Amino acid sequence: MQAIDPDFLPISGFVLPRFAGIPTFMRLPHVPLEDARIDQVDIGLVGVPWDGGTTNRAGARHGPRAVRDATTMVRQLNQATGVMPFHLARCADLGDVAINPASIDDTLKRITSFYRELTKRNITPMTIGGDHLTSLPVLRAVAEKGPVGMIHFDSHTDFYDSYFGGFKYTHGTPFRRSVEEGLLDPKRVVQIGLRGSAYDGEDVEFARSNGVRLVFIEELQERGVRPVMEEACSIVGRQPTYLSFDIDGVDPAQAPGTGTPEIGGFSTFQAQQMLRHLGEVDLVAADFVELSPPFDVGGITAWAGANIVFEILCVLAQSARRRVK
Ligand code: MN
Ligand code: MN
Repeated sequence: MQAIDPDFLPISGFVLPRFAGIPTFMRLPHVPLEDARIDQVDIGLVGVPWDGGTTNRAGARHGPRAVRDATTMVRQLNQATGVMPFHLARCADLGDVAINPASIDDTLKRITSFYRELTKRNITPMTIGGDHLTSLPVLRAVAEKGPVGMIHFDSHTDFYDSYFGGFKYTHGTPFRRSVEEGLLDPKRVVQIGLRGSAYDGEDVEFARSNGVRLVFIEELQERGVRPVMEEACSIVGRQPTYLSFDIDGVDPAQAPGTGTPEIGGFSTFQAQQMLRHLGEVDLVAADFVELSPPFDVGGITAWAGANIVFEILCVLAQSARRRVK
């Protein structure tokens, strides 16, 4: 892997003002799968404009476009960690998966086959959703060779069995399916930020009895970020790990643009601090989901999301850098 590849750097704000130009994720080059440069890409940012798994207020299908716009404001150096992700890995905007808004089954297949094209080429995927059901078809490609661990930020477990009388595929069920399908090793799964009223607690019971570590918001606030994240890192260990970030983990005062808000969440600053602990984890893929621009207020959730995606990209690039291509 080359240290700095000028062909894969974001357009600098010194060259073209950051409010100008055609927005791609982080102002990176747009490299669709059929582009010859695809084989050079280390980290592919992929939009999944889909909210077919949403059971409550929809709109996450508009997430990728809002994040593309907001990430044009992000610069290149993480001043807190010193990481420059675009110098560690060749990153590109791979465009959006051509989902089918009229069919869940068809869309699940389309997403998995898109991500198989990436894993085939050793491209580390950074997904921008989309609702949280998106994680399932991505994991079907990413965990094809065996179960992975997961660090998951959310106010919900997404471990429910089914909705509406036995319907198995919603944004409240992706990780139940992932455990059943052998995509996740539940003993290497940590969920952080859980809270709010629940249907019946069946999701928590399933997760606990399978060995998932659940960190409710009360514990996070009482113990603080550092000990919780140190424990999370030791649980996932050095084995391949997925990172999933649901924007509704952030307090809705700072991130109102989401379908299922829950008060009493962690702050954007805590989100940044938590993510910065993951530099040593072997992250094989990550997603950022549940941003619903129609519920946003003045773009503050998109702006939070853009910076959270940047933090994720920093640790993902550290990970990709350690893997020999
Ligand atoms: Mn979720
Ligand atoms: Mn959630």
